[in-house]
Amino acid sequence: MLAVDRWIKKHPEWFDRPRIEIEEGHEGWRQLIDNAFEAVEEVLSMHSGEYFRVVQVKEKFGGLRIYFREEGRPQEASARLQEIMNDAEARSRRICEICGAPARLGLKDSTFSVRCGACAPDGWKPVETSAECPERPEIQ
Ligand SMILES: [Zn+2]
Repeated sequence: MLAVDRWIKKHPEWFDRPRIEIEEGHEGWRQLIDNAFEAVEEVLSMHSGEYFRVVQVKEKFGGLRIYFREEGRPQEASARLQEIMNDAEARSRRICEICGAPARLGLKDSTFSVRCGACAPDGWKPVETSAECPERPEIQ
């Protein structure tokens, strides 16, 4: 079961047919996802707002992305929610997406992935310079 499924069960109101694009069997980010949604839970318990919806959870350029929409909370709460997601994204670049071991961002066949030595496929090469590493993954 994907780490996200637990949260869909716990807070169905957060998820309205979200796009979940994390491969089955990739469990390395379970803790990361749990930590992020636990932090979200805390923010939402302090600021109820109008709504909070997770739109998409996916892997992009090797990193974890959690996209959401929310409305009706003070600026500081909105900023905190975004910070939680950014933090999860930054951490995901150092955690093997498959097994959770310390890992690096790498490239194979022009596809980015974060892998430890044991989970790296043949032909996978770590990204060595920041120039190779898309810092803001929104740009396709
Ligand atoms: Zn691994």
